[in-house]
Amino acid sequence: MKYAKVIIDISAEQVDRAFTYRIPGELSERIVPGVRVQVPFGSANKAKTGFVIGLSDEAEFDESRIKPILSLLPKALDTNADLIGLAAFMAAEYGCTMNQALKAVLPVKKAVGKNRRRKDPVAEIRNLSGAGEDAGEAKETVSPANGGGLSEGGAGPELMPDEELNREQAEVCAAILKNTHRPTLLYGITGSGKTRVYIELIRHMQALKKQTIVLIPEISLTYQTVRELTAHLGSRVAVMHSRLSQGEKYEQYMKAANGEIDVMVGPRSALFTPFAKLGLIVIDEEHERTYQSDTAPRYDTREVAARRAEMAGAYLVLGSATPSLESYSKALKGEYALGVLKNRAHPGALMPAVYVEDMRRELEMGNRSIFSERLKELTEDRLERGEQIMLFLNRRGYAGFVSCRSCGTVIKCPHCDVSLTAHNSWYVDPGTGQREAALLSCHYCGYTQPMPRECPQCASRFIAPFGTGTQKLEQAVKKMYPRARVLRMDADSTAAKGSYERILSSFQKGKADILIGTQMIVKGHDFPNVTLVGIVAADMSLNTSEYDASERTFQLITQAAGRSGRGDRAGDVVIQTYDPGHYAVELAAKADYESFYAREMSYRRLMHYPPDTFLMRVRLRSEDEALAAEAAEFAADRAVQLFQAEDAVVIGPCNEALYKINDNYRKILYIKHPSHDIIIKIRDTLEEAFRERYGNRNIYTSFDIR
Ligand code: ADP
Ligand code: ZN
Ligand code: ZN
Repeated sequence: MKYAKVIIDISAEQVDRAFTYRIPGELSERIVPGVRVQVPFGSANKAKTGFVIGLSDEAEFDESRIKPILSLLPKALDTNADLIGLAAFMAAEYGCTMNQALKAVLPVKKAVGKNRRRKDPVAEIRNLSGAGEDAGEAKETVSPANGGGLSEGGAGPELMPDEELNREQAEVCAAILKNTHRPTLLYGITGSGKTRVYIELIRHMQALKKQTIVLIPEISLTYQTVRELTAHLGSRVAVMHSRLSQGEKYEQYMKAANGEIDVMVGPRSALFTPFAKLGLIVIDEEHERTYQSDTAPRYDTREVAARRAEMAGAYLVLGSATPSLESYSKALKGEYALGVLKNRAHPGALMPAVYVEDMRRELEMGNRSIFSERLKELTEDRLERGEQIMLFLNRRGYAGFVSCRSCGTVIKCPHCDVSLTAHNSWYVDPGTGQREAALLSCHYCGYTQPMPRECPQCASRFIAPFGTGTQKLEQAVKKMYPRARVLRMDADSTAAKGSYERILSSFQKGKADILIGTQMIVKGHDFPNVTLVGIVAADMSLNTSEYDASERTFQLITQAAGRSGRGDRAGDVVIQTYDPGHYAVELAAKADYESFYAREMSYRRLMHYPPDTFLMRVRLRSEDEALAAEAAEFAADRAVQLFQAEDAVVIGPCNEALYKINDNYRKILYIKHPSHDIIIKIRDTLEEAFRERYGNRNIYTSFDIR
């Protein structure tokens, strides 16, 4: 090949295209897609770094004007051509610059702080989870923060023998391995032993000298997953996540690039591990929202994984006890193969008994505490028997829906099927009835109304924002059960490095009776001694202003319930709600995924929401309020003008639920269309129109497509 297409490593959109350079004879063998080169750039011919993304034999224009590549840079990492191809796919699919896409797929460039003695995160987890088991009270010193006594080599616990696969598991494994040409959705109920299936598949890959990437939805699951995988697979496992330092990341990447490991575990960015012979990608808890990147490139991990698997000829397995509607509908259409595990794997483990407690009745009976009578009773029982309890309270920034504590009515938008969101800062104490004025508004259509003084349904004055957080819950628990040992796990308690591991390993070893937490404690964890799970406020996720609130609620309840009774003893689950008749609550209590799927899909079809159609959110923000408003109107008008003929539906613009953040005013509009191609076309057209009209003015847009 005589010419190379090179992307210059500058993060400016103006240069975000490939430039053609001549390959000097002496480099002809070594210039391949993925390598880094030095090239002359601009009129001053300044030397810049670039990535080679393609080769060709033909010059597109006058040969004499093409500049030569100056030099080949030493390999930062063995960036393989697949990853560059993947970046090109992402740039086109998610409307980001090639530079942004390259930064996502090639995140680690060089070793940093070489001389420092680094801790190996995998060895730490192995030590934390097992080695110190019988070391009495010396245990407290296993804090990764002080590091001291930890050996670098991963002198973790002995390998555990693999349990024999049960029949379902064996059948699913065989079916997956037969399926080379399409992804498999592994729908396995909580505790059905999906991890055991992954391990079997990884062993199969190891026998073929191929590697595996295991994606987890968030960092808090690293501890559990690495512990389980290393217990069976030994030290040929590495981890990658944002809590690692640059140097630690680099080491983990190098292990992958050098073939020292076969398995990489981590949140979505681990997908870009530079394995030479990738055989399998596992996406565990595939339904989780965190697989959708919320910064550019706004990619969907499942789509990019499918692309990478296709390029590498690798298997892709998407596992979940509560598959996303999107994936399950793909499985029903045959786009994915479907593997099902219907039973809990631990011999003798049963599904837990589930109690739905109506908190309106509790109030009627004079119980104003956070705890229903049932949850109190069962908590006392477990504390007495020395069994463990998990209390789950979902509080991730969706505070502020308003409901009546007497009848459960939630204030909703008259034009949309979503709850209104409170906007001003305010506080209402149901006891004293004191309140400040607040404005409620609809996220979808912009409708607003004042905070009502009494419930529009039953005239009760106990109408209030739902505002119990995990810290408040912890206080209440400690007050009620002063002798219980309580741990709390949420964004506040896990701010420090190593804190996830500390909390989870303490709980694992029985050093606490009660673990209180946000959605972080819900997913995936396997604590055999937990026999009671309390879902303190199931409604919290129901009353968000999102079209998929019911799906989220069903998933959260099912996953939380799935933590109970996984070992030898039967478990209980208490679901506290003001809306016991809601289908998401009822069907989650029955662990009836199929019925939920059918019901929710018919709602999505009726309302034309994803996955029935594609929904693009166009977000605009500016420090200039008038400019944000003007640009939002412009976008909506343009979309209507250009695409009405194609039957695109444009909703909005309106203010975002959080209208002002960091002094930026934020507007949003929604565009729906059943064709993906047309949605992409609308996006590209709007982007172009924006560039033309606003150029360098202080306004930012982002697009995401569901
Ligand atoms: P899931 O991820 O599907 O919720 P896990 O993989 O955590 O379930 O497995 C649940 C429990 O069942 C674990 O304690 C695991 O060790 C156990 N288990 C899995 N497969 C088997 C098997 N074939 N025989 C015995 N126990 C098993
Ligand atoms: Zn009421
Ligand atoms: Zn509305």
